[in-house]
Amino acid sequence: MKIDRETDVLLIVDFQNDFITGSLAVAGAESLIPVINSYIKKFKNIVFSRDRHKLDHPSFIGQGGPWPDHCVDNTFGMEIHSGISITGQALDKLCVDKGRDKEAYSALDGTDLADRFKVAGFRRLFICGLATDYCVKATVLNAVDKFDGKVFLLVDAIKAVNIKPDDGKEAMKEMADKGVKVSSVGMLE
Ligand code: ZN
Repeated sequence: MKIDRETDVLLIVDFQNDFITGSLAVAGAESLIPVINSYIKKFKNIVFSRDRHKLDHPSFIGQGGPWPDHCVDNTFGMEIHSGISITGQALDKLCVDKGRDKEAYSALDGTDLADRFKVAGFRRLFICGLATDYCVKATVLNAVDKFDGKVFLLVDAIKAVNIKPDDGKEAMKEMADKGVKVSSVGMLE
């Protein structure tokens, strides 16, 4: 499959320190760095979503939520991993933050991304990142509803949390049932 540099877009979900080495580290997440960098080389249109929370966020255990503190505003944990080949201001320009006051798993929830993609005339959306069974799944399913074109899951650039051992597998099934296509780095040129 040939990538169209004008009408295809790559969305990298929550590839942030807290989900890689921090308070909610996903096993094996670091191994995705070279794969994600390969995708970055192939695409012209690239967006990074970032989970970004205020200090006393309702999703944190201290406030009665399910998660340890993570991706707190202006901390190392909320930054995109430094192994990603885009850095500094160039990276900041590509980032879209979500969930500041209230948890948002989908990168299209409470952001302007769906509108931006429409205005830009994007026809295919390729999604990767963390984690398969939470924010990737939520983003993909939301994109099926909100994005006008086709949605692809990049299966070699995702990892699951697997609180229950089959969570990742079930998330994959749920996405496939919604008609989401899969792709991988060797299938795209
Ligand atoms: Zn969060």
